[in-house]
Amino acid sequence: MLGLRVVRGPNWQHGDQDGGEDHVGTVVEVNGANSVIVVWDMGCTTVCRGGGGEYDLRVFDGAPVGICHPIACVACEDVAVFGTIWRCATCTNVTLCSPCYHDDKHDISHEFVRLDLPKADPVTVPKRASSQRSRSMGIFPNALVKRGAHWEYGDQDETESNSKANDLLDLVLLLFYDGVPNFCCAKET
Ligand SMILES: [Zn+2]
Ligand SMILES: [Zn+2]
Repeated sequence: MLGLRVVRGPNWQHGDQDGGEDHVGTVVEVNGANSVIVVWDMGCTTVCRGGGGEYDLRVFDGAPVGICHPIACVACEDVAVFGTIWRCATCTNVTLCSPCYHDDKHDISHEFVRLDLPKADPVTVPKRASSQRSRSMGIFPNALVKRGAHWEYGDQDETESNSKANDLLDLVLLLFYDGVPNFCCAKET
């Protein structure tokens, strides 16, 4: 669960602590069964509910926590798909990885189901052709980032000025697994 990438969910009640709708954050601490601490890419920290019928969050991407499906994406033909997979409910044997699904690969008028975990129950989602599009905001490749409040890596970033997320990606991921938030600036992808 640590490192899971999330966005605001159906019972969100924390105003714009996440930076606004469509902004992405990371689970950095689990507080018992129904509560987690999320650090948003924009820098704020929020205690979020995840049980008891109240869900502040939705899963955005499970790939950073190592979730892997032993199945190939029919579009990009990656043989193991990390994170969420998407299966066509109309055709047999059509499975997409998240980047291909969101890039409108396969027929967007077909209904899909989503699987967050290899053995999870499939969740039917609305057709992409009739869905509203939004752009995710946060730390993605090529985002500009800078040291966060908990930076403890000396001058590994060489300069305190903005750096590209690609250059700092290893450091950022290391911090996810340490459970120590250390990022504060986000630009659109
Ligand atoms: Zn793919
Ligand atoms: Zn299909």
